[in-house]
Amino acid sequence: MAPVGALPAAVAVLARAADAGASVLLSAHVQPDADALGSTLALAEGLRRRGARVTATFPGPFVLPASLAWLPGADALVPAGDVPADPDLVVGLDAADLRRLGELGPVLLAAPQSLVVDHHASNPGFGAVQLVDPEAAATVALVADLLDGLGVELDAGLATLLYAGLAADTGSFRFGNTSPATHALAARLLATGIDHARISQRLFDTAPFGWLALLGTAAGRATLERDVGAGLVWTWATVGEADDHGLAGDHLEALVDVVRSAQEADVACVLKGAADGSWNVSLRSRGGTDVSAVAIALGGGGHRMAAGFTSHLDRDGTLAAIRRCLRAGAAPEQG
Ligand code: 5GP
Ligand code: MN
Repeated sequence: MAPVGALPAAVAVLARAADAGASVLLSAHVQPDADALGSTLALAEGLRRRGARVTATFPGPFVLPASLAWLPGADALVPAGDVPADPDLVVGLDAADLRRLGELGPVLLAAPQSLVVDHHASNPGFGAVQLVDPEAAATVALVADLLDGLGVELDAGLATLLYAGLAADTGSFRFGNTSPATHALAARLLATGIDHARISQRLFDTAPFGWLALLGTAAGRATLERDVGAGLVWTWATVGEADDHGLAGDHLEALVDVVRSAQEADVACVLKGAADGSWNVSLRSRGGTDVSAVAIALGGGGHRMAAGFTSHLDRDGTLAAIRRCLRAGAAPEQG
């Protein structure tokens, strides 16, 4: 749970800003996913309806994956460099730490009022008002509470945004973060008449044909190391390789969802090579290992079962660091 009083305090900050017609800047985290964008766009729309002057953004690069560009209101997102100067309130959403807000981080810290809405257990706490609840399945669940608090009615447009984040962060209601409250919210969202099958298809089951070849390359290089922790399976692919298959770099994100099914390894890892030579690393656990501990140790964060970090070491150095962490600290509770 978020600390007692966190939700009313967050609602009060937002209601005050809306009632005053204040300028509110909302930012998702860098390389936003469905939860980051769904929560940002839904809260932006709710505040707009309540009378605030709203701008929604995310840190650069200002590129939206095709799987998310169709979200209602995404066309009104503004690049971080074009946001209004001196907003009255800045809201950070789904950002596990200040660095995930990139160039918007200092803007949030400098604002007269700030609010952080997040569900990462690794969130160190930042911003003047904090609604951080690691028990929330997704940041969109917290935004649903905020919209209720503001008296904004959930229509199909808002429900589409919230459902996208909820389905994405729960692995379509498969992961352990799915609770009765998750299903209750999903039921409310479906009752607005959204086409949930179409939403899921656009989010999870739509990619150019070249994605199959990229998957083949990455799966073909997968390596199993049974002796590392409770078993490690890892592979890698680069944005250059994605480009060779006619794909944008964000198509590397879904690889880990396949790699994680190797039953011999408690931890799955995909190293995604960026254009600047750095590696964005996705870690997933089958249950025995807290991968957020590994990610935090290596400068990132996330959840127990899904976490990530960025490495400026080369591929071998990055893997060596992961192996060290798995062997040392992130000891498995069971095989
Ligand atoms: P993914 O592997 O899908 O990029 O991320 C898995 C989880 O770890 C997400 O909850 C994401 O927010 C978090 N995460 C990924 N990369 C980073 C990072 O560099 N820093 C932090 N703090 N969290 C990250
Ligand atoms: Mn999230």
